[in-house]
Amino acid sequence: MELRTRTLAELGNRHLWHPFTPMARWLEEDQLIIDRAEGVFLFDTEGKRYIDGVSSLWVNVHGHNRPEINQAIKEQLARLEHSTMLGASHPPGILLAGRLIDVAPQGLNRVFYSDTGAAAVEIALKMAFQYWRNLGESQRTTFLCLTNAYHGDTLGAVSVGGIAAFHRLFEPLLFESIQAQAPYCFRCPWGQHQESCDHECFNALERVFFEHHKQACAVILEPKIQAAGGMIVHPEGYLRKVRELSAQLGVLMIVDEVATGFGRTGRMFACEHESVSPDILTLAKGVTGGYLPLAATLATERVFEAFLGTTFYHGHTYTGNPLASAAALASLDLFEKDRTLERLALKANALKEELLKFASLPYVGEVRRLGFMVGIELVQDRNNKKPFPEELCLGHRVTLEARKRGALVRPLGDVLVLMPPLAIEEETLRELVGILFDSLKATMESL
Ligand SMILES: *Cc1c(COP(=O)(O)O)cnc(C)c1O
Repeated sequence: MELRTRTLAELGNRHLWHPFTPMARWLEEDQLIIDRAEGVFLFDTEGKRYIDGVSSLWVNVHGHNRPEINQAIKEQLARLEHSTMLGASHPPGILLAGRLIDVAPQGLNRVFYSDTGAAAVEIALKMAFQYWRNLGESQRTTFLCLTNAYHGDTLGAVSVGGIAAFHRLFEPLLFESIQAQAPYCFRCPWGQHQESCDHECFNALERVFFEHHKQACAVILEPKIQAAGGMIVHPEGYLRKVRELSAQLGVLMIVDEVATGFGRTGRMFACEHESVSPDILTLAKGVTGGYLPLAATLATERVFEAFLGTTFYHGHTYTGNPLASAAALASLDLFEKDRTLERLALKANALKEELLKFASLPYVGEVRRLGFMVGIELVQDRNNKKPFPEELCLGHRVTLEARKRGALVRPLGDVLVLMPPLAIEEETLRELVGILFDSLKATMESL
């Protein structure tokens, strides 16, 4: 190990506290320190190369160090690095709002900026709450949401989240929300099989809506796929059903596209798969191509108009930062120049084909995929779908094996995740899946 790596590792171990990381284990393991990046490859301080298998936590779109985005940021930097959106505006913020509305599902017309996905969700919740206050419906104080949902880690976002391992501890601090049981076809909560079921999940949703719609400000969900919950793909028509019920019963619909937005699922937004247009939409992660923190909460003109007689008292200091906005504009340009979505369709087929080999492994329960979002759920016994003991940290072990073989991935428990940059070449994509396959086999053989 080079001296620089060792010095950095020691300093980091003395002072850093990493997110979502069991720090006792971290302090014992070899630290990975990423030093630079090029295209879909990351390089550590020792010069070792890795495929960025989860897009640097689900954000990178067009690859790292893209000259077009670099240039856009540099040009913006030479003019204006930051200026507030409280009481003033700036060109990249204005231009980006227009471009976002152009690509977003029809009906959305207003862009409220922030800087992280969780903030975009907090804003959506407060916006929906105040919307009804403004209309004089102050009995609406709760939200409908789904079990197994993830909307970020701030307390409002956690209040509508449903991942026990992350959220349960904080329960005393949360506001009350009404959870409907989310679909999970591999482990159907109603004991059904996808081929023969009566869509019991739709009925459960309907019951929650009929019972609580008068108290609900909004329903919030991740469209088509619950990402952090384990890449759980929802049955066809579920999202559409939520739109129909919320429209019928007069509840606002918030769609959280923080993970799914900007091409991840094969369409610009996942809502498009079911021709759904929500009242409020949150976006973040991929919006800047993975370059800088930026988020936005989009709303319809109807929601916006309800605020014209009052003020929405919410904002963040770096709201709509000009550098981040410039990166986002350049990223949207690249979608056109690179024909990103068109080319993605072919690569998604290659991905599907490569993933077939996982099905033959006895400890693979299910391989789930929507576009470029992949979850491979490991089970101890395929017949009864029994999970492996948590203490085995199987997902994490596979990650360490993959690191040795030149790929960076991060699992969700025992669900292995692949979420490469959309710009990845087919050959590298096949290599990435191959590395994950070899890493899984090596891990199982070492048990
Ligand atoms: C990641 C994520 C968030 C939170 O975004 P941050 O930028 O990490 O705060 C919210 N919603 C969904 C669906 C996400 O996947």
